[in-house]
Amino acid sequence: MKTKQKIAILGAGESGVGTAILAKKQGFEVFVSDFGEIKEKYKKVLEQIGVAWEEAGHTEARILKASVVMKSPGIPDSAPVVQQLISKGIPVISEIEFASRYTNAKIIGITGSNGKTTTTKWVHHILKSAGISAGMAGNVGDSFAKQVAGENVDWYVLELSSFQLDGIVDFRPHISVLTNITPDHLNRYNYNIEEYIESKFRIVKNQTGEDFFIYDADDEIISKWLETHSVKAQKLPFSLQKKFENGAYIENNNIKININNNQFIMPISTLALEGKHNTKNAMAASTVANLLRIRKETIRQSMEDFQGVEHRLEKVLKINNVLYINDSKATNINATYYALDSVKGETVWIVGGEDKGNNYAELLPLVNEKVKAIICLGIDNSRIFEAFGNCVDLMAETQSMVEAVKMAYKIAEKGNTVLLSPACASFDLFENYEDRGRQFKDAVRNL
Ligand code: ADP
Repeated sequence: MKTKQKIAILGAGESGVGTAILAKKQGFEVFVSDFGEIKEKYKKVLEQIGVAWEEAGHTEARILKASVVMKSPGIPDSAPVVQQLISKGIPVISEIEFASRYTNAKIIGITGSNGKTTTTKWVHHILKSAGISAGMAGNVGDSFAKQVAGENVDWYVLELSSFQLDGIVDFRPHISVLTNITPDHLNRYNYNIEEYIESKFRIVKNQTGEDFFIYDADDEIISKWLETHSVKAQKLPFSLQKKFENGAYIENNNIKININNNQFIMPISTLALEGKHNTKNAMAASTVANLLRIRKETIRQSMEDFQGVEHRLEKVLKINNVLYINDSKATNINATYYALDSVKGETVWIVGGEDKGNNYAELLPLVNEKVKAIICLGIDNSRIFEAFGNCVDLMAETQSMVEAVKMAYKIAEKGNTVLLSPACASFDLFENYEDRGRQFKDAVRNL
């Protein structure tokens, strides 16, 4: 009898448990090990499918017996058990790599520093509207591995973090999208942006001449990388400034997409989401849709009726003609840049949280132009005071969301916007960005 292949799974969250389900189905002997505590709901699943597991530590001897190891994206390479595996030559892969080995569906992979979730959901929305059988995985819902184990679809739309891409070997999306590259998560890349850039570009590594690569040609980091590296996939750039024979661009306030002599056109003004960044996301999503030869009318309709994603420039309420916007997901400077760029009228800006080494100077022109007051919402707000103390008349600080919203309410006048766009992580005062966004919305609704 053939002995079963052994897989060890590090981390029992959504991707780990999904991998366990798929690996079991594929006949692996599975062992799941989590350094922390495993959530009850996941323990139940592991029990149900009859998979061995442990929590609150790693039994290295058992893990090192595996022929392949799936590491959850949250675990850094520097973790001692990972170092041991690497030194013994045992392959350490990501869930995306593992699951893609067991599906024949075609893959649309979407990565970038910002805009991944929005673009992923937008693409999925178009595919669904066109009646295409498509699964969506990444940050939302069931893991890719679990979906591969459970159902048959023709396409997957995958949101890919750099950590997922670090763990690929043969993973090959038919269509890849790179929304942009700006410094983020550098703590996981030895504070070296080059390593982070290489990680993002792994998305094209296994693509062939039959595949497609859609990217932001206005992004300097991406353009520079492409000058010195070759990509086998057909390149389809998008840009707000340049025009292309093949790619997406703007002309007379319309998005135009040319792909091998096939042209698609639609006005920017009817897009479901506002802001330049969302025009770019729309260009990326509709380029994908055109590649799939979806009817142009269906694409246009889906670009107009997409609902957007919670906590991303989400309009909450208008009170006394003041618009309150929840952009709690803006956890870095670039996302906040586009938020400030897109707001209309004078703005009361709620900012702050756990600073990941932000360069606030990039925001100075927009703050000078649009911001009338800054409310800092964080434990340590010194860097924000330093950066903007001289350019706005009113600066205040608080550690309570209710208080921040009340202050904003007092300051804002008719026609103004109150924008929560923190440019920082949320963990100093909140559980996560969702918690921060919900507290903001509750406070606004209770005004
Ligand atoms: P991700 O999944 O990459 O974190 P999201 O779609 O969740 O991206 O958006 C995160 C933040 O970035 C939000 O504040 C959103 O408004 C902003 N954003 C969305 N798309 C872009 C883009 N193309 N460029 C810059 N910022 C963006």
